[in-house]
Amino acid sequence: MTLSPPPLHNDCFALPAGVDWTPVDEALALLKSRMHPVTAEESVSLNAALGRVLARDVTALRANPPLPNTAVDGYGFAGGKTKGDHVLPLVAGRAAAGPAYEGEVPDGHAIRILTGASLPPGVDTVVLQEDVSANETHIAFHGPIKAGANTRKAGEDVLQGAVILKAGRVVTPADLALAAATGHGVLPVRLRLRVGVLSTGDELIEPGGVAQPGQIYDANRPMLLAVLHEMGFDAIDLGRVPDDPAALRVALDRAAAETDVVLTSGGASAGDEDHVSALLRSEGTLQHWRIALKPGRPLALALWKQTPVFGLPGNPVAALVCTLVFAAPALAVLAGSAWTAPEAVLLPAAFSKNKKPGRREFLRARLREGRVEVFSSEGSGRISGLSWAEGLVELSDSAQIIAPGDLVRFIPFQSFAPR
Ligand code: AMP
Ligand code: MG
Repeated sequence: MTLSPPPLHNDCFALPAGVDWTPVDEALALLKSRMHPVTAEESVSLNAALGRVLARDVTALRANPPLPNTAVDGYGFAGGKTKGDHVLPLVAGRAAAGPAYEGEVPDGHAIRILTGASLPPGVDTVVLQEDVSANETHIAFHGPIKAGANTRKAGEDVLQGAVILKAGRVVTPADLALAAATGHGVLPVRLRLRVGVLSTGDELIEPGGVAQPGQIYDANRPMLLAVLHEMGFDAIDLGRVPDDPAALRVALDRAAAETDVVLTSGGASAGDEDHVSALLRSEGTLQHWRIALKPGRPLALALWKQTPVFGLPGNPVAALVCTLVFAAPALAVLAGSAWTAPEAVLLPAAFSKNKKPGRREFLRARLREGRVEVFSSEGSGRISGLSWAEGLVELSDSAQIIAPGDLVRFIPFQSFAPR
């Protein structure tokens, strides 16, 4: 394992002076320019590399295929064959996948050859066995057959030394096949980014517990832990603290020791009960980002003992949207991946909406029969709408009048993950 890269700069969340409501794109550009990878690298076997972030470019140790070979079962010989009938004498033995055929095939002769076998010297063309009649000593078939037919050239897939996978890529199952085929048994990956999740609020109790009037269940923590886990991060449960600076300080100290970055939810605005903001302001390096975004409240961004803290709104809808839109791309960079701008698809709306100018809006949405539906209520407390949704519709900062059939930007939830 290598040494971890240095932490983020103290002023990494500073906003230009005099800014009031920052447009989403500006906020994202600022965040993007301030993030860098913070995780060390290690080597892991292919079986452990799925979903991990590559620490370095990976090059092919060997070409694929390593030698010219046959793509089919059939008979091999040298050169193309003209239109008309051909009869060729067979050499003894056969070429099969595995150890190479020993010997050479003389010009004008053919050899029995099986899929995957390297082409013996004297063979560059293969005729399909289905197109051949054969006895013990000869084969007969109709031309024409092009020189090189049914064969694969050495390196036609990947040349030795070529970059097969780029640093920052999240390893997929097919990447494992590519790495294995080109000679790798281990891959250089980064340690998983440890992302702590902390809920704050006097009103919160543990899911499944007995609720008194005035108490609500902590819904954000299971959701955020699951989102982060699905995105390939090491999601760490930091529990739940009341609106009490001392308890919050203990939790943040633990977070700084055990995690690379923390997501808190609740208490992040600038009000009297916003203890996360208050503590980060007095003892951390708090910046309130007032982003022109619905749903969203000010985001509290800070470093606590060099550990970045994303103070999310408590409202579960806003907490999820802010996690996907702001935290996810930043976490991707901290984890060693590229900044992820989610891929939106333009699809016809199944709804109407008259959107006012001034801020970007995200609606809970899903795709049915090629059209984008939005949840019946935009109420930001409606957790049922989050569960109903399969993605978000992104509406522009400017005014937008949408009628059924108009194209809208739909972003499936998975699109927010690093890749
Ligand atoms: P706050 O950001 O602390 O002002 O909270 C905004 C709203 O979200 C309040 O109604 C809170 O009760 C609610 N809330 C805060 N944290 C959570 C949570 N972890 N789960 C569910 N609701 C929450
Ligand atoms: Mg609160």
